[in-house]
Amino acid sequence: MSGSAHRRPLPAAPARRGWCPGLARPMPTGDGLLARVHPPLGILTLQQARAVAEGARRFGNGHLDLTARANIQIRGVSEATRTALAHLLTGAGLGDVRADGGPQRLTLTSPLAGRDPAETIDVPGLARAIEAAGLGVPGLPPKTLVAVEGRPGAALPEADCLVFSRAEGGVGLAVATERGSCELVACAEQDAPAVMAALLTAFVRTGRRRMRDVSAAELRALAEVLPPDVLARVHSDARERRRSGISQGALPFSPPAGLGRIAPSFWMLALEAPFGRCTADALDRLADYASRLSAREIRLSPARGFVLLLPPDAPVARLADLSENFIVAPDDPRRGVAACTGAPACASGSTPTLADAARLAEVFRPLAARGRSAHVSGCAKGCARPGPADVTLVGRDGLYGAVIGGAPGDEPAIHLPIEAVLERIGRADTVGLAAAFAPDCTITEGGRNRRPT
Ligand code: SF4
Repeated sequence: MSGSAHRRPLPAAPARRGWCPGLARPMPTGDGLLARVHPPLGILTLQQARAVAEGARRFGNGHLDLTARANIQIRGVSEATRTALAHLLTGAGLGDVRADGGPQRLTLTSPLAGRDPAETIDVPGLARAIEAAGLGVPGLPPKTLVAVEGRPGAALPEADCLVFSRAEGGVGLAVATERGSCELVACAEQDAPAVMAALLTAFVRTGRRRMRDVSAAELRALAEVLPPDVLARVHSDARERRRSGISQGALPFSPPAGLGRIAPSFWMLALEAPFGRCTADALDRLADYASRLSAREIRLSPARGFVLLLPPDAPVARLADLSENFIVAPDDPRRGVAACTGAPACASGSTPTLADAARLAEVFRPLAARGRSAHVSGCAKGCARPGPADVTLVGRDGLYGAVIGGAPGDEPAIHLPIEAVLERIGRADTVGLAAAFAPDCTITEGGRNRRPT
């Protein structure tokens, strides 16, 4: 299909701040337009996975990003191909769901949602109902996120709003604040979508873009708009948050790479895309693999990977079929390193971040094994990991600024070419990261003093 036949003008350009690209509004990047696909509940049927792969190959440059919100991005789309891509994926049931600039996908659920034997509520049903309720809230900021967790007492991901199963029955609704999660209300599971709609409507009225920016007074006002027949409680200190059982963490929303038996009836195979990227061909191969193992769907994971739920008799030992394209084991050193697209794909980058991150991962292996984290960022924007890491390398004019224990926007201790970075990372296992990257320190090695390059 010729893309030019379907060409039409872009919709009115949204404000760049907080803009989330969809199929109708792809975002310009260094390697063309980026179109984000928001699979309902983060689940692709095998047919949909093949449609995404086909779209990336025919209308993009064949490269895909997996996001921390379990969405998938097609890179290298052009003005000539973007409408044909949207047509293909809308036909596959993956089209945009709203045109008012609000979130295309409001909820985040565990990749095991609906199959996890520890869940005590209907997570997929609740998430669908909250999605429908959210469509009726005009003006919702595009990045608004509601996480739904079905295991009582489980760790929760970061999100504007949290809906979680309570050990004593029903669900709790909490919101993010500057000081952590704040439980607002407990209600019956069936009431949660309406309560969430009231909460989101009140949030829109504050004019804030993120729930954690809402002031204490605004938070009390939020609680007051909730239906009077539910118990409204506002906690503002950490002691109360702990008592209410809300905690932050990565699992089970982000299962680490590997194979695990979840229940007698199924296995979970979690795969991670190295640095959050894979190719259309790799996604096609994964769909073939899933089909051979009788999996009916491919679930996206906030760990920037995929999850397959497999029957107990599936020949799951053949992981070598996938290891060329995906991380299949929890001890893979690339898991300790985050990296953005960088140069040449992103115009803001001056360093080949993905290639450099792969080299860094090898020398970083001993530190990663001790739980240390690294981030290779093409510039100070820090798309792959806005927060701090044990070592953050920030590209600038072909060099890397090394930030120890900080975020991409922090002041680097020193600027170095990648070769010198790798040399110092190699020493850091012995002397520590801060000493290895000190601009003028002298390091003792084998009885000799030497100044780092
Ligand atoms: S961090 Fe900078 S270089 Fe990397 S993808 Fe974002 S804007 Fe591009």
